[in-house]
Amino acid sequence: MTTLADPVPGGRPGDVERASALSGELSGRGVHGIVLSYVDTAGVGRVKTIPTAGLAQAAAWGVGMSPVFDTFLANDHIVTTAVLGSPDGDLRLYPDLDRLVVLAGQPGWAWAPVDRVTQDGERHPGCSRTFLRRILTDAAHDHGLAFKAGIEIEWAVGLDSAPAGEFVPATTGPAYGATRQVELSEYTADLLAACAAQGVDVDQIHPEYAPGQFEISVGALDPVAAADRSVLVRQTIRAVARRHGLRVSFSPAVAAEGVGNGGHVHLSAWRDGTNLHSGGDRRHGMTADAESFTAGVLARLPALTAVTAPSPASYLRLKPSQWAGVFTAWGLETRESAVRVVRGTAGRRAEQANLEVKPVDLAANPYLLLGCLIAAGLDGITRSAALPEEITGNPAHLDAEEAAAKDVHRLPTSLAEAVARFREDEVLRTALGPVLADAVTAVRHGESDAVDGLDDAQVAAAYRWRY
Ligand code: GLU
Ligand code: MG
Repeated sequence: MTTLADPVPGGRPGDVERASALSGELSGRGVHGIVLSYVDTAGVGRVKTIPTAGLAQAAAWGVGMSPVFDTFLANDHIVTTAVLGSPDGDLRLYPDLDRLVVLAGQPGWAWAPVDRVTQDGERHPGCSRTFLRRILTDAAHDHGLAFKAGIEIEWAVGLDSAPAGEFVPATTGPAYGATRQVELSEYTADLLAACAAQGVDVDQIHPEYAPGQFEISVGALDPVAAADRSVLVRQTIRAVARRHGLRVSFSPAVAAEGVGNGGHVHLSAWRDGTNLHSGGDRRHGMTADAESFTAGVLARLPALTAVTAPSPASYLRLKPSQWAGVFTAWGLETRESAVRVVRGTAGRRAEQANLEVKPVDLAANPYLLLGCLIAAGLDGITRSAALPEEITGNPAHLDAEEAAAKDVHRLPTSLAEAVARFREDEVLRTALGPVLADAVTAVRHGESDAVDGLDDAQVAAAYRWRY
């Protein structure tokens, strides 16, 4: 379990001693530096690095970094809000020592996610990891709930020898094909080894649908740990790829046409160690709370899209009949509805049952993503929300009348539309707090403006190597 306590100046109790011991141990293992990692509002992973000998100092007092990155765009331009985006001010990055891992794909380096604290030692209101910890603390306190989450990762593997900016798939074999597995055999074996060395339990790794596309799924953890893991696994995928002459992209749409890279979220709510998505008296074994939680997520999906699909490139991916789940609908094990109820395998349902949210990609900041999904679900529980009729098959094939009767609607088809829905959503804005809510709005507007006048191919190219 992730510690939900905030970092404090001088260090959390025991952290400085622990960091001192760790830095000695790491130096002995040939680790020279530590990557301090966080994700900005646009979904781009940003870092500072410190020498291994500086770990105790960082655990006590943090490492300086400007708050300006909260309003960076994926193209590194900066927008401003009432309080963010100014060249003034400073923050302290505090590493979470529980999450520190030696990077198997980057010899000489370790990695740790950070929380960001103000110079006065307070929570930084723009820190997405701190936001998720707060949502979880409140969920435990107000509802007696804990959660498990897993974020699937799809990515496109290209040749590093390709001309700058271009994507040339590193495989030629068919979708899900044995040929592709052979073609990238060494790469994927090294990736599995690196994940194992880093304590990441992999469920499966396989060739996916689009040219050069692969997918990895990893074991579920508490949401902060799951978000950390998503960042770590992507860093690992990228690092191992470089050692094999490969270049990877997690962009929602590497090309303007065809199937994109998703980042489907699996989420389950637990009370007193019991999974609420199994063993209940509602449809498919859901308890009343699991149904309301699921209904809460479904009801807010149009606004949530500004968080789950935050890039202009996200809307090249979010198309019907590509398994990206672009309709406000739910169903059992259905791959075209935005929300898929996963019952799990007979005999393991109490452990495995969860809900899967599909209109999510890897441009999403995973901390904002999970925090907002949970906030939406909790609102559903508070309202005792009920799920509408379930869907089977492909909602794209419903005629207008059937769709209206089942309350099935297309999710936003542009970032501008998504952010307009987000701006109206008091539940999400309140959960985020004014600083983060404004950061999301400003950054999404900035991304939209950045692609004004570009055609789909130009949008895909603009973001291809940013995530
Ligand atoms: N690539 C699809 C997406 O963009 C997902 C395929 C799958 O279901 O694994 O969401
Ligand atoms: Mg997939």
